[in-house]
Amino acid sequence: MLGLYLHIPFCSHICNYCNFNRGLFDAGLKARYVAALETEIRRAGDGGAADTIFFGGGTPSLLEPDEVGRLIEACRGSFAVSPDAEVTLETNPETVTVDRMRGFLQAGVNRVSLGVQSLHDRELARLGRQHSAARAADALLQVKSAGISDTSLDLMLWLPEQRLEDLQGTVEGLIALEPSHASLYLLELYPNAPLREEMARSHWSLVPDDDAADMYLWAMERLESAGYTQYEISNVARTGRRSRHNLKYWTDGEWLGFGCGAHTTRGGVRTKNVSSTDDYIACVASGRSPAVEVRRMSTEERLGDALFTALRLTDGINLDDIRARYGVDVWERYGAELAVHVEAGLLRRDGPRLWLTRQGMLLAHEVMTVFV
Ligand code: SF4
Repeated sequence: MLGLYLHIPFCSHICNYCNFNRGLFDAGLKARYVAALETEIRRAGDGGAADTIFFGGGTPSLLEPDEVGRLIEACRGSFAVSPDAEVTLETNPETVTVDRMRGFLQAGVNRVSLGVQSLHDRELARLGRQHSAARAADALLQVKSAGISDTSLDLMLWLPEQRLEDLQGTVEGLIALEPSHASLYLLELYPNAPLREEMARSHWSLVPDDDAADMYLWAMERLESAGYTQYEISNVARTGRRSRHNLKYWTDGEWLGFGCGAHTTRGGVRTKNVSSTDDYIACVASGRSPAVEVRRMSTEERLGDALFTALRLTDGINLDDIRARYGVDVWERYGAELAVHVEAGLLRRDGPRLWLTRQGMLLAHEVMTVFV
């Protein structure tokens, strides 16, 4: 089953830490972009079976419900999308009203992922976010009261000036709001992020690595005690509410990406679309493919990726599956290096399963380098 990813590169404000492919909202540009996206989807349509649609961004909730409906319709008209497909819309709290959410639900959206980042007003202000903690909480209630019960909250940790007790407040707030899924990512500051300058100017500090590790471990344990199960390094879910779309990225799946900067992986070929919104629209309008990079992956590369990404999951790598797919005995090939990590308590092996311990998740990149 394919996953279909639709990139919506518009935001009403640019956050000071953000390195995604996005730009400021412009109504005219948005209308032309949605038309191009619809065309790209219809041209790519080959009736392939798909079971997820994911609107990512940017801020996809800046689209109107009828635009989202048109795009879902284009997906359904071009691919064999399952009737029970998971259809996710990434949403920012400040764009949420009950009416808009009802409109998105009617358009076919059945899962909302809300970019909250923190439930601490001063932390939100430092990140340049446009919502308060109260607005974020209210937004989730509005999403639910519109009839969308599959909800995810995104949080970030290791924020400027954040201490364990601040994170504890945010996590307790999240638990009280009862989303069905949550993601918890470390803030990563790219080299020229405006937030870096602000941090220097305002003398904001980050706690040392060890304290950040303790914050992560505390959050995961607290979420588990509240009934969430961790299934990936940064993701937890209630039973049956794992992100079916994101799991494709971690389980050697296949997906098609539409829109500027979107990536596709299918049949061992990886492509990337042109990043600029204007160039993307121009390409599609002139009948050309927006793909600027097309690369056939070698079997070795696919194997490395499959191992690398599976290790992010708490289920880990299934060595039997890898042997069946790639004809490789992972333990025979990498056993000596992996054994060192098993010995150090970062990895565990039980029958065909090989997975990172929670301590191992803190040093995941070190372990993953075995495969790349
Ligand atoms: S809303 Fe999200 S995508 Fe847009 S600028 Fe902020 S972090 Fe980036």
